[in-house]
Amino acid sequence: MQLSSTLKKIQELESGALSAEENVSRFIEKIEKDKYGAFLEVYSERALAQARKVDARRKKGGKLPPLAGLAVGVKNSIAVKGQRLTCASKMLEDYVAPYDATAIERIEAAGGVLVGSTNLDEFCCGSDCTRSALAKTCNPLDTTRVVGGSSGGSAAAVAAGLCDTTLSEDTGGSIRCPASFCGVTGVRPTYGTVSRYGVSDMAMSFDQLGPISSDVLGSAALLQELVGSDPRDATTVAALKQDFVSSLNNLPNGLRAAVPKQFFEGCDPGVESLVRKKIELLESKGVKVEEIDFPLLSYSLPVYYLLVFSEFASAMQKYDGLRYGADWAQGTNYNSVAAEVRSANLGSEVKRRILLGTYITTKEFRGAWYSKTLKARDLLRKEFAKVFKSHDVVLGPTMPMTAWKIGEKSQDPLQMYLADILTVPANCAGLSGASIPAGMHNKTKMPVGFQVIGKWNEEATLLKVLAAAED
Ligand code: GLN
Repeated sequence: MQLSSTLKKIQELESGALSAEENVSRFIEKIEKDKYGAFLEVYSERALAQARKVDARRKKGGKLPPLAGLAVGVKNSIAVKGQRLTCASKMLEDYVAPYDATAIERIEAAGGVLVGSTNLDEFCCGSDCTRSALAKTCNPLDTTRVVGGSSGGSAAAVAAGLCDTTLSEDTGGSIRCPASFCGVTGVRPTYGTVSRYGVSDMAMSFDQLGPISSDVLGSAALLQELVGSDPRDATTVAALKQDFVSSLNNLPNGLRAAVPKQFFEGCDPGVESLVRKKIELLESKGVKVEEIDFPLLSYSLPVYYLLVFSEFASAMQKYDGLRYGADWAQGTNYNSVAAEVRSANLGSEVKRRILLGTYITTKEFRGAWYSKTLKARDLLRKEFAKVFKSHDVVLGPTMPMTAWKIGEKSQDPLQMYLADILTVPANCAGLSGASIPAGMHNKTKMPVGFQVIGKWNEEATLLKVLAAAED
């Protein structure tokens, strides 16, 4: 078996063959020359100070924490104290985070070194990272193509070798889509696994943090430091603190996988054939695979978007120029100030979602749209629960296509939403989902992603299946 690049790096850092300062300063140099627009900001001072602390600890001979000296990029929707938290929006361009997110505290406690913030679609709204108001990110494998979104900067950073790993966020596929388009690994854990304290919420009943890394081991190593309950986020689950890394290669016997036939409807044939090869590889390792019929999956996309619009419109109310957001010049009362600030500082997709979300949650329409959609989400959850009674994982493609050309879908919001058809089912049900590379598409020569969806709170099994399917 090939030595995981993350494992190799961890070993070099542990033995002192590579100092944390060397590791971090090499990355900082590379980030400063970044041609792909992966990073919004480099945390040079903070990173070097943290790296030196790790090296001093090694010199003293003490046991190093698990992520000691690894360089971590952070999606810029997550608070890092004293650094700009922009959500890639003009609205928050100058906003400085007053505290660290819980996930950030945990990474630093484990010795990880934050090297900078990565680009995203404005307020996480998008599937290709072309909606950032602050930077343009392109795919390092073909710079005429999109990087995927919304955590596109993180995936580009990993694919271009600008950091060891990243902390990202996935509401409807924002970890898995860019991981798939860039040929790297992304894991969105079960809802409630990682604290969302200090994360700018897009849709609070869907959002979840997770890693985008170069391999499964890298994702497992970061994830195991992040999981666990947090009194500051009441949705976090208590259990789950376990060693994912050391059990990674112990695929349990007799695992059962479901492959919904709907996952291949409308899927590009080049994507399908590579994904089917991954499924066969798992079969050859003893996983029992069964094709299933899951007609309710077709409701995932409307359920996702209607509820995300509603929750997003509510989350965005605080950006009014008074509580949060850019300054205003002319407004004389609350409505005119809020209107002025929002018109001038939010992009069209963000405005569209605020308007639609406000509309479907008004008193007149709530029953027909919002409440009905909540019921449909519940049905989807129940259907997944049935599937997981007789299966351990669900397998399929991550995205029905490979990375499209920059600009191809920017003018057509519906086309962009449709691209999420295979990632949103996991989010609607609060499940975990991950993407690993399945190979290069025969025609586009771009990476294809293989998706594994896991049972609630069974991240260990999910990671083992990913490791078994990894080349
Ligand atoms: N493409 C999805 C959306 O635009 C994903 C967003 C996300 O996961 N943050 O809603």
